[in-house]
Amino acid sequence: MEIIFLGTNGWYDTGTANTLCVLIKTREYDIVLDAGNGFSKLNKYVDGAKPVYLFLSHFHLDHIAGLHTLLKFDLEKGLKICGGAGARRVLASLLRRPFTVPLKDLRYKAEVLELPSQAGKIPFKFSCLPLVHSGPVLGYRFEIDGRTIAFCTDTGYCENSVKLAGKADLLLSECSFLRGNGHPGWSHMNPRTAAALAREAGAGKLALLHFDPAAYPELSDRKKAAALARKTFKNTFAARDGMRIKL
Ligand SMILES: [Zn+2]
Ligand SMILES: [Zn+2]
Repeated sequence: MEIIFLGTNGWYDTGTANTLCVLIKTREYDIVLDAGNGFSKLNKYVDGAKPVYLFLSHFHLDHIAGLHTLLKFDLEKGLKICGGAGARRVLASLLRRPFTVPLKDLRYKAEVLELPSQAGKIPFKFSCLPLVHSGPVLGYRFEIDGRTIAFCTDTGYCENSVKLAGKADLLLSECSFLRGNGHPGWSHMNPRTAAALAREAGAGKLALLHFDPAAYPELSDRKKAAALARKTFKNTFAARDGMRIKL
């Protein structure tokens, strides 16, 4: 399996990175995590020969703004967009004229699945749990091709993150802040809390992503964050756009 980081910023694009999008290429499926502006690069790595499953953590714009580029792709095996309860209504309010074209007008079949109620329609092993943010947000765990990947973004530390990341080969954790956790009710992670989560969960590897560009303007700032995190959890790296790793 290969993981390709298409967008690794939180909040907004900079010259350093686009907003959040991660691609997991598996034997039978292309799995995409969030559709920030990095999503526009999907066709560099996905040719539509496999079904595409897009999992949305939540509906803040840095996680869905890339959806207006759905029109440029040709996903002949179809696209399933999976999100939390209410996803169909929220996406229908955005994916329509005058903002962009509705899903039904794409040249391939695209369908919204709401989780957890329609989890049974997803043909590989995965789970989702609510995390802690300013509004509803889902964290995910995928067990596929003999590997386990957890994706926890836009959250502070919480027990559900530990559950999702339990013994995962790779934990993709947000790292919005340099330090601190934000104000209660809109919490985020920093290098130390992300590393503590990976250690507590017994994860194999930790990728830091969703860097707040105000706190992390340059890639060198991310490297410092990874170095700090490695004091708590050795197998940590800072993701950057265009990075590819085999798992
Ligand atoms: Zn975000
Ligand atoms: Zn958010």
